[in-house]
Amino acid sequence: MASAGYLCEICGGVGEIVHHKIPLTEANMHDPKISLADENLQLVCRSCHKRIHDELDGKGRRFRFDKDGNIVPY
Ligand SMILES: [Zn+2]
Ligand SMILES: [Zn+2]
Repeated sequence: MASAGYLCEICGGVGEIVHHKIPLTEANMHDPKISLADENLQLVCRSCHKRIHDELDGKGRRFRFDKDGNIVPY
């Protein structure tokens, strides 16, 4: 979290939630390369996190994903 300066990486608001780009499952949650890897983590605020998951669920079109799996606003 400190590396992101505690700011939401999407909107620059208050970062409150660590989103995992590769969703955690029972199979991978104990693998630190997945659960703790910086490149798999994105610090976001509450509202952006909700929007990310709406997008992942196919409910919204506010974000897209770049080639590295980073979430970027349209
Ligand atoms: Zn945000
Ligand atoms: Zn999430």
